[in-house]
Amino acid sequence: MSEPVLRAHGVRKSFGHLEILKGISLEVQAGQVACLLGPSGSGKSTFLRCINHLEKISDGELWVHGERIGYRRAGNKLHELKENETARQRASVGMVFQQFNLFPHRTALENVIEGPLIVQKMPRAQALAEGMEMLDRVGLADKYQHYPAQLSGGQQQRVAIARALALKPKLMLFDEPTSALDPELVGEVLDVMTSLAASGMTMIVVTHEMGFAKEVADVVHFMADGQLVESGDPRQVLENPREPRTQAFLSKVL
Ligand code: ADP
Ligand code: MG
Repeated sequence: MSEPVLRAHGVRKSFGHLEILKGISLEVQAGQVACLLGPSGSGKSTFLRCINHLEKISDGELWVHGERIGYRRAGNKLHELKENETARQRASVGMVFQQFNLFPHRTALENVIEGPLIVQKMPRAQALAEGMEMLDRVGLADKYQHYPAQLSGGQQQRVAIARALALKPKLMLFDEPTSALDPELVGEVLDVMTSLAASGMTMIVVTHEMGFAKEVADVVHFMADGQLVESGDPRQVLENPREPRTQAFLSKVL
């Protein structure tokens, strides 16, 4: 098999004396959609934040596309990156949050082109053209001049997805992308994510949307108390979980 897009090996993360991630190991292959489920406080967001450099891991290793997160290779030595050197690595991983975090005083298109302009120093004309393509991909090309406040929550989240895609990430992380939405707006965001998955994007999705997990995920990981308790085929994990903690969780959310 070719190199995985994400390889986590024994990832640990502590805040002070409290260990939140207790040795997470998993691989996500190119084009795979992995859903991460688990109770609140189990460490799902922390794990995603570690992959995207928003937190520094305490132990273990994270590799994205053969590059170790937080390090650069010089010859056969690994050097730890300084904070101001992490932007390029961070840009290879797109992240979509529960709260859309759009800039309120910028239009949809301006939000989307910000990363390419600032991080990638892309020429403005190219950033604008590619930004429109990304908005088109999430079905919002006609709303490019709208400000966030003029868009519904579902539309804002689709802009946030377009913004993440604009950096052409190798991996997309979604942290409960539909949890803040009114129920009638959830579907349009899941549809965009489903088409992104169909286009071959590698994705890790933290969600409580069991339908999405069942239909779209290639693999489901159940996390509890900072550990992966159970991983496998979505139907097996969701319909016939082996572990008591998975069973207890699913009996509450389904
Ligand atoms: P989940 O996303 O599964 O709900 P989180 O990763 O957000 O879980 O949080 C896991 C635990 O880590 C929680 O107990 C939370 O309070 C704690 N935690 C998260 N971030 C920090 C932080 N910056 N400092 C201290 N504790 C934190
Ligand atoms: Mg969370």
